[in-house]
Amino acid sequence: MEAKYKRVILKISGEALSSDKENIDFDIVNTVAKQVVEITELGASVGIIVGGGNIWRGRRGKGMDRITADHMGMLATVINSLALQDALENLGAQARLQTAIEMRQIAEPYIRRRAMRHLEKGRIVIFACGTGNPFFTTDTATALRAAEMEADLILLAKNVDGVYDSDPKLNPTAIKFEEIAYLDVISKGLQAMDTTSVTLCMENNIPILAFGLSEKDSIKRAVCGEKIGTIIH
Ligand code: UDP
Repeated sequence: MEAKYKRVILKISGEALSSDKENIDFDIVNTVAKQVVEITELGASVGIIVGGGNIWRGRRGKGMDRITADHMGMLATVINSLALQDALENLGAQARLQTAIEMRQIAEPYIRRRAMRHLEKGRIVIFACGTGNPFFTTDTATALRAAEMEADLILLAKNVDGVYDSDPKLNPTAIKFEEIAYLDVISKGLQAMDTTSVTLCMENNIPILAFGLSEKDSIKRAVCGEKIGTIIH
């Protein structure tokens, strides 16, 4: 097996890391870390964006100042990212955490050239704090970092195994797309990724592969070009 895509940005939502038992389920974190190490060994350079939704989302802060609530959300991504960095290092991998909001005692600040250099050296870079700005999401950060890192593909690992015409959890007859155009995701209002992020990917010609994180070896299979999930292009 060989990686079809040489540089990928993997987005893992915070919720995908949680289970009924734990807010951060280390069985899941370790499974993700193991696959990430495997794809680097297959020749892919990997950047990772982790969400924070398992801990906090800005829009949950009803009655709160929105910007403060978003700052809490960005800090939540740091907690998840530290867990993933630790799991990667336990496997002997070289991982570097960079934050879009400086916290030098904990991580490197985000510096594009430095991140590129890490990737060239085969290190795994985790980007935390999203874009560093309120009113955005970690999906937007994924599109932004993918463009900055000149990625070939975005891997959108989700709780659902692709993009459907309606919510498969609510509608048992929902139909899954094998592929779909960026503009159709936007015009049909599909819940794959937020509109700002899809637009950014479209403008920079970065395809997005949405797939289920819980499917066996899904990250590895996606990077090797196996037809899983839904490709947005
Ligand atoms: N957030 C933000 N700016 C960013 C990225 C994230 O303000 O660039 C905040 C926002 O409040 C968001 C929270 O961090 O609700 C957690 O991120 P997100 O909801 O994207 O996580 P996910 O749903 O992927 O777990």
